[in-house]
Amino acid sequence: IRKPVVAANWKMNGNKQLVTDFLKAVADSGASTNIDIVLSPPATLLDFTQTQRDSLCKDVILAAQNMSQLDNGAYTGELSAQLFKDVGCNWVYCGHSERRHKYGESSKLVAKKFIQAKKNGLVPVLCVGETEEERKKGKAFSRLTSQIEAVINLAGKDCFDNAILAYEPVWAIGTGNAASPEIAQEAHKFIRGMVAAMRQECSENIRILYGGSVKPENAKELFSQPDIDGGLIGGASLKPHDFVEICQAAK
Ligand code: 13P
Repeated sequence: IRKPVVAANWKMNGNKQLVTDFLKAVADSGASTNIDIVLSPPATLLDFTQTQRDSLCKDVILAAQNMSQLDNGAYTGELSAQLFKDVGCNWVYCGHSERRHKYGESSKLVAKKFIQAKKNGLVPVLCVGETEEERKKGKAFSRLTSQIEAVINLAGKDCFDNAILAYEPVWAIGTGNAASPEIAQEAHKFIRGMVAAMRQECSENIRILYGGSVKPENAKELFSQPDIDGGLIGGASLKPHDFVEICQAAK
């Protein structure tokens, strides 16, 4: 039995007030019983979020949205794994589609970040997903394969022990058009099969999250698919009430 995960990705949104409102809503609803709830605000809010989390809702896990692949040094504007650990982060997203497509992150760079997370004791959430064009051309699964293989090639066959995977089709992110439960399940099954081909036990334990226009209205059907273990929530995570409803749908 895999414990469901519902992760909020605020992207470049939010403020201190929203941090407090969000944590209070999660605490009041009891949403964190039996599921892992993850909050990923912008990096500047993490220190404040940690303090608020410790007093309002202790079991919320903090995640960084992106991280340097390097340890420390003269890298103006970059943030390291140790800096994130220092403000209470335990998880980090690697290779979110906006990093890949808007900031040109290659699968190789993503793999380096993934390794850096593990080396520093952070749980990496590896995000993969095809574009609309790739899907139309019948290349969705080959895209997923190359994104996942890039990590396996650099990090080794046991790389997904203590890691999370997220399937986020680019065409579903921020569009209001979530993948249908059938399409999402098919992709999740394919991804779990890739892990199984390497390590059967890991494939049974690893949690694979769906991301892309998850809302209170579609969460239950998506999360009830056999290979979908929760969600990575963008827009709807900025509305504490909606986010809590999505968490309830994961139970
Ligand atoms: P939306 O929920 O806004 O589509 O964003 C999904 C996402 O990118 C989560 O990481």
